[in-house]
Amino acid sequence: MTDIEIASQVEMLPITEIAKKIGLQADDIEQYGKYKAKLAWPLAYRPDKKHKLVLVTSINPTPAGEGKSTVLVGLGDAMNQIGRQTVIAMREPSMGPVFGIKGGATGGGYSQVLPMEDINLHFTGDMHALTAANNTLAALIDNYIMRDNSLGLDPRRIQWKRVEDVNDRALRNVVTGLGGVMQGVPRETGFDITAASELMAVLCLATDLVDLKRRVGRIVVGYTYDSEPVTVAQLGFTDAVTILLKDALKPNLVQTIAHTPTIIHGGPFANIAHGCNSVIATRAAMQLADYTVTEAGFGADLGAEKFLDIKVPVLGKTPDAVVIVATVRALEYNGGAKLADLDRENLLELKRGLANLNRHITNVQRYGLPVVVAINHFASDTDRELAVITENCQSLGVDVAVTDAWAQGGAGTLALAKKVVQLVEETKAEFTPLYDYQASPRAKVETIAKKYYGASEVEFSRKAEKQLEQFARLGWNDLPICIAKTQYSFTDDQTVLGAPTGFKFHIREFVPKLGAGFIVALAGNMMTMPGLPARPAAVGMTIDADEKITGLF
Ligand code: ADP
Repeated sequence: MTDIEIASQVEMLPITEIAKKIGLQADDIEQYGKYKAKLAWPLAYRPDKKHKLVLVTSINPTPAGEGKSTVLVGLGDAMNQIGRQTVIAMREPSMGPVFGIKGGATGGGYSQVLPMEDINLHFTGDMHALTAANNTLAALIDNYIMRDNSLGLDPRRIQWKRVEDVNDRALRNVVTGLGGVMQGVPRETGFDITAASELMAVLCLATDLVDLKRRVGRIVVGYTYDSEPVTVAQLGFTDAVTILLKDALKPNLVQTIAHTPTIIHGGPFANIAHGCNSVIATRAAMQLADYTVTEAGFGADLGAEKFLDIKVPVLGKTPDAVVIVATVRALEYNGGAKLADLDRENLLELKRGLANLNRHITNVQRYGLPVVVAINHFASDTDRELAVITENCQSLGVDVAVTDAWAQGGAGTLALAKKVVQLVEETKAEFTPLYDYQASPRAKVETIAKKYYGASEVEFSRKAEKQLEQFARLGWNDLPICIAKTQYSFTDDQTVLGAPTGFKFHIREFVPKLGAGFIVALAGNMMTMPGLPARPAAVGMTIDADEKITGLF
């Protein structure tokens, strides 16, 4: 059965019932239909050390994804089954990839969040609100250049792009303002996917509406003819943009197949953005439950690194344990097996691919955090293959559990849940960040590339070198770094798999995101607007007269 067929057979509980499970009454939520709601209560957070946080991450994936969300959902269900009150905190799917290659992002099999077709499509409109806010700002900037421009904003140096929640390579580079004097000032620009908008990162890192407004005001939209940065606050657009985000800032409440309360909020990708759900949602989950299980996108080289170095300082809480999801398939892929051969036993490639898992384990342990490996079991896995991974982890002294979250939901994830609980309750995590925030952006990039990815050298383009000088002059040196790079490799080349060392890591350009509070470093040829594959998922989708949808995975 497909994910959507499984999901459509489940009888969901009214969202008011799910809210009650975590102590929320009718007034505490704003309902969006029968099965979705936003948290309406004042989102003031009272930190409490006894609330536990578990982060789910993974090894470098295959293009299909390795089942991080699936394991996350199964883990949340299983934790509740073993008597630990748990809320799941996830990211919102982006529509672009749903119609492209990867499918939805609501888990899979018997470990899904519902209603999956809503969540994967328009959900409660957060993505649309972000798109509208982003593009309103773009229109205001163009209008300002045409009608006023007393600040001397240079049309050639506008950093703010338009966005849409669609994989649309045709809009990567565009010229706007064509058609004569009344159509604006022509300039070269482009579209990013909404998940890459700075407003998405701002929404995810804001601690409340006032903080959101402060961050929106700090956004640098471009530079003057004298190379001075211009912010949203200087242009007077801060409140207008914030108004458009007031509802999007409230976290969304849904349920899993097993009715575990799940908070879904914020959806930056981890390859081109910081890849974590919102601080507000994670804090809300921590306040409402004893255990919060959350995820960060793609492998631990991307999402987890950014969770630990960018999100944690704002969140004010470090994970009590980290789950690294591995699959036989992705390890074999990392060990050199072809995508078409992953369904059969490839012991040689599997053993070679273990280097990738082991690099991720060492990297997470570097932060001082306890690790457990979850082997996400696929029907094509053989006992011998599973034993190879298990023995590898045991030889490293790392906890490991085979999970069947996809086929059995929480019941298939009990062993993992018990290991997680044991690890959290019996070990004390002593967190050490990867880099010193006061170090220069160059030093931070070098630390990430060399200590975490295995590079021997970082090469900065001429443009990046000039930007580094500019950041020092403008006093932007103490911001964390958000690397934008391929999710398939520790390098900036997606064909270099496994655990490479001794390579050169290339930084093409920086994009300062002062509102979000980090500097993006674009590595290799990473794009901030994805394209669609030769046969997009869209081609297999159907809908009938009763609104029954197929093909959303
Ligand atoms: P990630 O979060 O790592 O991107 P997902 O959890 O979204 O991965 O899973 C990607 C896809 O793989 C989903 O369509 C899901 O149903 C499928 N999937 C995940 N785990 C399994 C499994 N063990 N067996 C079969 N399909 C799976």
